[in-house]
Amino acid sequence: MQTIKAAVCRKFGAPLVIEEVQLAAPGMGEVEVTLDAVAICHSDISYAEGAWGGHLPAVYGHEAAGMISAVGEGVQGFAEGDSVVVTLIRSCGTCPSCAGGKPTICETPHDTANGPLKTADGQPLDQAMACGAFAEKVVVDQRQIVKIPADMAKDAAALVSCGVITGVGAVVNAAQLRAGQDVVVIGAGGVGLNAIQGARIAGARRIVAVDMSPEKLGIAKEFGATHGVLATEEKPWKAAYKALGGRGADAVLITVGAIPAYDQAPRYLARGGRAVLIGMPHSGAKAAYEPVVLAAVGQGLIGSKMGDVVIQRDIPWMVDLYQQGRLKLDELISGRWTLEQINEAIADTKTGSAKRNVIVFG
Ligand SMILES: [Zn+2]
Ligand SMILES: [Zn+2]
Repeated sequence: MQTIKAAVCRKFGAPLVIEEVQLAAPGMGEVEVTLDAVAICHSDISYAEGAWGGHLPAVYGHEAAGMISAVGEGVQGFAEGDSVVVTLIRSCGTCPSCAGGKPTICETPHDTANGPLKTADGQPLDQAMACGAFAEKVVVDQRQIVKIPADMAKDAAALVSCGVITGVGAVVNAAQLRAGQDVVVIGAGGVGLNAIQGARIAGARRIVAVDMSPEKLGIAKEFGATHGVLATEEKPWKAAYKALGGRGADAVLITVGAIPAYDQAPRYLARGGRAVLIGMPHSGAKAAYEPVVLAAVGQGLIGSKMGDVVIQRDIPWMVDLYQQGRLKLDELISGRWTLEQINEAIADTKTGSAKRNVIVFG
């Protein structure tokens, strides 16, 4: 056990508390990563607000990068001093989902309440999302990390581990977009911008961004959107058809949590198109659609978690794209904050900013 500083959630909806906590040494197959950067994701905020339940006290944070500072027994291919990104994708490697190439939906349960974290007085402390990265260090499974070049900026690298893989992966792995197809992306926030640049990288013909904010539609164009539609229009899908030459899209990606976006999503689709559900509405929220329409014109609804990525395959690709100037990461960062400023950084993220706030450790 060692003592580190972490931002702890003690009560849903209350500010996080900076505390000294205890972190266990890495066990079998685990590594300790000393973090350089962790971004604030909307999922962290939803958890801290109690939207999805979970154990308390807890440490959130799951979009991180740093350097390996200790290696447990049985770890292969990683060594102290390696630069890595840390993801929440904890996969067993052997269940039917993992064996079928879908580690993001691993079927083996993982008990975050009995992870490596304890409070200063030795009480249970939940390592939320198998990461607990709002902290100076994490201990995670070796399957959750991917090596990155030592000279890659860690604040940019941190973004790859959630927002970027979720958006780009949804286009490539879930929608399986082919070059020349048309795409609608609902929501031009952190994940939406990455779906947009994923569609550009995949060779989309036209990319229509839909958002409530004219400012975000402007940013969407910087990331590759060819058209912008205001979601506040009465029937925004009509403006999207117009942009797409009178036809619907081959894929619509819903990157927001607001239910009307889910109700409306099939309206944007061409015959045979598919809607990919990426956003994370609160538990219990329900959407409605007409099954007969989907059946009659062969449309599909697909859920996608973390972009259906295989991190060991997809993250090195995305790092290359970034280093070749084909994937924007630095442009996604709206602010840099210290761990002590985390509540301000969260408040700033909740103002609806399109981009990511990153906690950097000195
Ligand atoms: Zn996230
Ligand atoms: Zn598994």
